[in-house]
Amino acid sequence: MTSIGFIGLGHMGGPMAANLVKAGYTVKGFDLSPQSMETARQAGVIVSSGLAETIADAGIVVTMLPAGEHVVAVWKELLESVPAGTLLIDCSTIDIDSARKAHAMAADKGCPSLDAPVSGGTGGAAAGTLTFMVGGERDVFTRAQPLLSAMGKRIIHCGEASMGQAAKVCNNMILGISMIAVGEAFVLGERLGLSHQALYDVASVSSGQCWSLTTYCPVPGPVPTSPANRQYEPGFAGALMLKDLKLARAAAKATGAMTPLGAEAARLYEQFAELGFGDKDFSGIINLLRDKSGSGAA
Ligand code: NAD
Repeated sequence: MTSIGFIGLGHMGGPMAANLVKAGYTVKGFDLSPQSMETARQAGVIVSSGLAETIADAGIVVTMLPAGEHVVAVWKELLESVPAGTLLIDCSTIDIDSARKAHAMAADKGCPSLDAPVSGGTGGAAAGTLTFMVGGERDVFTRAQPLLSAMGKRIIHCGEASMGQAAKVCNNMILGISMIAVGEAFVLGERLGLSHQALYDVASVSSGQCWSLTTYCPVPGPVPTSPANRQYEPGFAGALMLKDLKLARAAAKATGAMTPLGAEAARLYEQFAELGFGDKDFSGIINLLRDKSGSGAA
């Protein structure tokens, strides 16, 4: 079986690498954090002292890093030594420009590459049920499918290089906006004297139905597994939602797309983070809406 080099063993990369080990792959991993390295070692990842050792003999290299600048820097370094033909897959959520730059650098060295950001969070990473949104050539996608299937449940080819990132940024803009919409509806319902349960019972089977309501309901009660039932412990942290909305802003600016609600969502999540709630689940935005609601008729 192909040997895998895995760089970035954090909250997402650690469990993803562990699932590759479970599927029978030999995985060599590297992270700047000694603690992440130790957790990965306990999961069966062969930890390395640096990039060169991690990618030696690897037929496929996967990166799962914080942002575009990290991906471009790491790919630049690893492309100095990987043989042509090595498949490079970046699973991080990054800006479209950096994704394109990474693909171009790989192509220059004769390495096929994919951008393959994920949704499903840390729970999906641990359970191996992530959704992969993949950009790159169809034949490269086909080559990567077995590997991605060891870490995820739905593997979707979105088009050419960087289209995985495009799909991710569009999807998460919908998510940020829809969570605010659901939060606003509950706050307005409270003001009108409507119970959370009654609003949920109606909207969940009516035209207001959406994932933010029925899976991630931002008030405690109606959906017992949602973060609202555990003091908004993430889940998906507000800081990560802000990051993704900023990526959407940059993409909208670069393309001239009109996304006024995406812009407003970014502004509200910025406030959420500034108030010190960036490490709380993004559904906690309802508390900001409630706190900022006026006391009388407007
Ligand atoms: P994380 O901060 O836990 O992990 C990133 C890891 O990369 C860290 O352990 C860090 O030490 C390591 N790293 C940074 N620079 C490095 C380098 N030069 N060499 C080696 N290691 C390096 O972040 P995460 O939550 O695992 O997220 C990773 C990516 O996945 C991000 O792009 C994030 O937006 C995306 N994502 C996260 C979630 C989530 O719920 N956490 C969900 C979907 C997508």
